Amino acid sequence: MALPKADIELGPGDLLPRLKDQGYDAERVARRRAWVERKTGATLEHIGQSSFDPELTRGNIENPIGVAQVPMGIAGPVLVHGRYASGLFYVPMATSEGALIRSYERGMVALTRAGGVDVSIQNDENQIVPTFFFNSVHEAEAFREWLPAQQDAIRAAAESTTRHGKLTGVHWYQLGRQVLVNFGFSTGDAQGMNMLVKGADAACRWICEQYPGARYFVFSGMSSEKRPSGFLLTRGKGKRVTAGALLPHDILRMYLHCTAEQLFAVWHSTVLGHLHANAIGYNAHCANGLTAIFIATGQDVANVVNAACAITYFELQPEGLFVSTTLPALSVATVGGGTALPTAREALSILGCAGSGHARKFAEIIAAAVLGGEISMGAAITTGEFVQAHERYGRNRPEDRNGEGRA
Ligand code: NAP
Repeated sequence: MALPKADIELGPGDLLPRLKDQGYDAERVARRRAWVERKTGATLEHIGQSSFDPELTRGNIENPIGVAQVPMGIAGPVLVHGRYASGLFYVPMATSEGALIRSYERGMVALTRAGGVDVSIQNDENQIVPTFFFNSVHEAEAFREWLPAQQDAIRAAAESTTRHGKLTGVHWYQLGRQVLVNFGFSTGDAQGMNMLVKGADAACRWICEQYPGARYFVFSGMSSEKRPSGFLLTRGKGKRVTAGALLPHDILRMYLHCTAEQLFAVWHSTVLGHLHANAIGYNAHCANGLTAIFIATGQDVANVVNAACAITYFELQPEGLFVSTTLPALSVATVGGGTALPTAREALSILGCAGSGHARKFAEIIAAAVLGGEISMGAAITTGEFVQAHERYGRNRPEDRNGEGRA
């Protein structure tokens, strides 16, 4: 049975008010908020309370009405041995999922007691893949064969719009009469999406000037920005980071309450479930730690979709259990995007990662922190503590909020 459609005419009074200079000053933000209150009957007391000037959000949001306040906690310490991050770190995490931070804390402390986490960045290259369109397979082939000799000029065009973005490589893939051109960029300490779209667009415009008949769209979908794909595991997007550690038997017993064999068995037994689900990547819950760190530090949170295509694996050793997580598509920044917003900047400064020169250090810390969450969750499943931990830390029944039945 078809559902009846709501019979609504959109009138001028239903559209959001257009405010001078886009309305980022406190007074206009309050006016827009009051308009929403009148229109919807909602009371926006807490959304309206921000400790910083809303002008600072220009470039990060449109139609501002206030702030979403997400609780922030701290996990750690995690001892990191990397080329860029070295020492003990306390990791800010913003979430409303109870038990999450306690679990990450437990894993990080276990890793630290075990001697710390080795981390390594293997690649640092964001990707964008425009599509060029031609009239036939052979026209596309001719374009593909023309490209290699143009690399220097393409680089000059791509880098003409940015000081920090550097073209690291161009690859091409013909599909029928289309050619997908994969631009790789190193983006300094920025996540780089704005930077590299602008650079790639300049390169594409240069190509079209030189190659009559070439037409393009700057996005093809192949670079997998904010969507999971196999491309991310092999080509990567952003930083490819590996973290690994050996957990000795006594640390496993003391901090994770399990044996190496038990933790290994959880990992091994979940391979089939991942295969059955046709999962892209294989990990316990990387998305949890990534999301909480991303929110705390002003990252583009939707990049969790690509960053969480990660692989965790465990290996039994005579001395204990080798544990490892590789994040092939970690898009993170310490400059640009939301990283300069006041709470994000403070959270980054807890890690010594605010501003220029710190993106790789930040990526190494994230990989170590995420590994902490992987081992802690595996251990909680094998010991049966998983449900218990959520009962203790992670329940918010509405009746509890009303004061009924809260222990
Ligand atoms: P941005 O905030 O647009 O720009 C940051 C700029 O900071 C860089 O372009 C760079 O200028 C400058 N910069 C100064 N010091 C730097 C350093 N040490 N390292 C690197 N850059 C430095 O940030 P973005 O990283 O390019 O873009 C990220 C934002 O794009 C996110 O907020 C995301 O939400 C958004 N986004 C955009 C698209 C898109 O298609 N355009 C898609 C998804 C997300 P120079 O370039 O002059 O060097």
